[in-house]
Amino acid sequence: EIPTLTLLYTTNRLAPSDTNQSNATSTYNDKISLIRTDITKLQTAAIVNAANESLLGGGGVDGAIHRAAGPSLLEECETLNGCATGDAKITAAYDLPCDKVIHAVGPVYARAKRAGAHTRLLQSCYTRSLDLAVEHGCRSVAFSALSTGVYGYPSVEAAEAAIGAVKGWLDADGERSAKIERIVFCSFLEKDERAYEEFIPQFFPPA
Ligand code: ADP
Repeated sequence: EIPTLTLLYTTNRLAPSDTNQSNATSTYNDKISLIRTDITKLQTAAIVNAANESLLGGGGVDGAIHRAAGPSLLEECETLNGCATGDAKITAAYDLPCDKVIHAVGPVYARAKRAGAHTRLLQSCYTRSLDLAVEHGCRSVAFSALSTGVYGYPSVEAAEAAIGAVKGWLDADGERSAKIERIVFCSFLEKDERAYEEFIPQFFPPA
């Protein structure tokens, strides 16, 4: 299945043009986008990879990112000593059109669910990635649908957790969230796109 390169949803399209910018919701409405594409094509400051604990490459989006970035990405990843589930690390982007790659390690759904930790671990990937983006001066961030591929996280549950985590992060600290201009949810498969379409308007209602 070849994904279409179309911006499917951007919350600012839903906001009336006379939106009062002092209203928190309208601010969010300028910030959240949904796109269905190959994340390696995006020119956001940072893209978020669905990595594994080794950080040494894998299949899915991880493989696509390493192929497009070139071998220097793996060389840098080899110096990082892996990454715990629920955490993230940042590297340069080499031949990719973005500036930085944030490698987040989402939970393996079945295993994390048995421990009751799946939501917390998935959400911490999103908040840690946003923290890293701010620390490194990245003003726009595109997330792949972490854990929804080989790691088996159901799309609808993952979208709700992901969007909820981003909303919570934006709400928690206005000064910090002002440093991020745009957050893009980059879906690849239709099932993930539909899940985001369901939850983005719930968490970020049109003004
Ligand atoms: P995980 O092991 O965390 O489940 P996967 O790479 O298997 O990681 O899947 C994560 C998500 O990335 C899935 O929704 C998958 O459809 C998506 N995906 C795969 N290739 C790409 C790509 N080139 N760009 C964006 N998303 C992709």
